[in-house]
Amino acid sequence: MVTYAYRCTACGSVDLTFPMGQAPTRTDCPRCGAGAERRWTSPGLTRLHRGLRDAFAREERSRDEPEVVSRPHGGRRM
Ligand SMILES: [Zn+2]
Repeated sequence: MVTYAYRCTACGSVDLTFPMGQAPTRTDCPRCGAGAERRWTSPGLTRLHRGLRDAFAREERSRDEPEVVSRPHGGRRM
């Protein structure tokens, strides 16, 4: 088993254990049940400037929101 770092939308950083190579990109937070997204803790990322990391975090957060903005046409017949 390997410990992976996840980021819960509600309570922040969470460490979860999965068999090697089987960590899902997203899972449910064991503490609060909210969605937790896997943090890619590569050496390169940890050396990013804080502002840059915030920007990435913001982008991740926006990815969490379901996007139902536009749908392809086709459900409707003219
Ligand atoms: Zn949580």
